[in-house]
Amino acid sequence: MIITNALYTEIDRLKKRVAELEAALTEERQRNRVGEAVIRENEVLTKENMELTQSRDEWRRIATEAKERVEGLLRDTTKMVKDEDVISDGFGSAWSAYCPMCGKRTMQVVRPGKAQCSKCG
Ligand SMILES: [Zn+2]
Repeated sequence: MIITNALYTEIDRLKKRVAELEAALTEERQRNRVGEAVIRENEVLTKENMELTQSRDEWRRIATEAKERVEGLLRDTTKMVKDEDVISDGFGSAWSAYCPMCGKRTMQVVRPGKAQCSKCG
């Protein structure tokens, strides 16, 4: 009888211990699930961040190329205009060699600060 009671007590103690361990295990699994979710979310954010960085770099590259192209065109245009199509009075004023009225290459410096078309006046 004494032995039986001792056994029941021991069985109860072990049952409680098993319940405690199961609860602890459930809690641990829950914590792991949360941890894994955080890791997954972090991976997604990292991937998105990398994609954003790549697309930002891509846009920067495109913008730089476009800027260089525009600057090149401006240089070419300026060079073309400077070389042939500009008349100057030698005092810092310059005009297009082409008349804005008739469109012919007939503009002439008539005095410092003044140019006019030889045809239109
Ligand atoms: Zn003219």
